Amino acid sequence: MVLSYHEFLASGNITRFPSGQRSATNHRPLAKAFKKQRVDQSPARLERLKKMLSESKTGQQTLDFLEQKGSKIIFEKMNYYGYFSPDNNLVALNPAMSDEDLAVTFVHEMRHAWQDSQMDTTSPEMTPKSFFVSGFAIEADACAAEVMYAHEMREKNPKIWAAHQKSNYAPMSTAFEKTFKETGDAEKARADALLKWYDLKVKSSYADTYVDYMSQVAKELKKQKELEPQYFAENRSTKLIVDTLCKDYDGKQFLKDGSDLEKPEKLSINEKQARKLSRALIPYMTKYRRTADQLGLDKITVTRPDGEKTTCAEILKQVKAERNKSAAVKAAAQKGNGR
Ligand SMILES: [Zn+2]
Repeated sequence: MVLSYHEFLASGNITRFPSGQRSATNHRPLAKAFKKQRVDQSPARLERLKKMLSESKTGQQTLDFLEQKGSKIIFEKMNYYGYFSPDNNLVALNPAMSDEDLAVTFVHEMRHAWQDSQMDTTSPEMTPKSFFVSGFAIEADACAAEVMYAHEMREKNPKIWAAHQKSNYAPMSTAFEKTFKETGDAEKARADALLKWYDLKVKSSYADTYVDYMSQVAKELKKQKELEPQYFAENRSTKLIVDTLCKDYDGKQFLKDGSDLEKPEKLSINEKQARKLSRALIPYMTKYRRTADQLGLDKITVTRPDGEKTTCAEILKQVKAERNKSAAVKAAAQKGNGR
């Protein structure tokens, strides 16, 4: 058994999340500086938020799922909007945020709870490629659920949409609005909002966390005496991930074409992340006789600082070559010393 993703997050191993560290899962990062202010953590406020949710279809379905799942909702001061902890079946909301921000966060975090009830979205048994596809998809989908809720509330409470437009997630509500104006199709607009998530800066923070986690799993597997071949082995298809997760609470699929999530600009990490992952994977791959293609590394695009694109498989090859070269230099130096 290796560390689960949730245990990994709970152990405080997140190194580069945008607004500090928190030992919980599925954070929704808060980009703005944390402002000190009077905060209302009363049960009455929670009831007010629930009432805000009940005024829209998606919000009401969120509450229905909450009841079914029996999750606990608490207020907790943190550097995030909120989080969902699957181990404790708990949603925490940051009481320093406005009601409008917290209503959408409520929808977001409960969406993670729902995703969790559909499939193991962050399983270390998935290949790194499938892990990235799934990990990005759950965030994009939870953010798209918020936008859907904000859209449904536009007439009853326009402040919710306005608050979203002021957040770092605004490009998603803008994408939604554009498609909705052009087509009148809210499901299509939701899909376009979801796809817009991949352009947000926050995507790279999630990639950092996924890289850190998979690197740790690879190191654990390298250390263990017994072989545990089930890890990094499941090539879960993007179609299965999209078909399972990208549907509304009525079961209607809103993202039709899963292949979108494998496009180079979507399934991509940066060079630093690719090098870190490669360094951790190489000893594991030797021990388990796994190829880069078996792990799906050829499908993961890597964008270099100069904008040039390559694949994670290519970066792994480079890292390997550099290692062999430095090993050869070391060996030659030792030989020299022996003379
Ligand atoms: Zn999230």
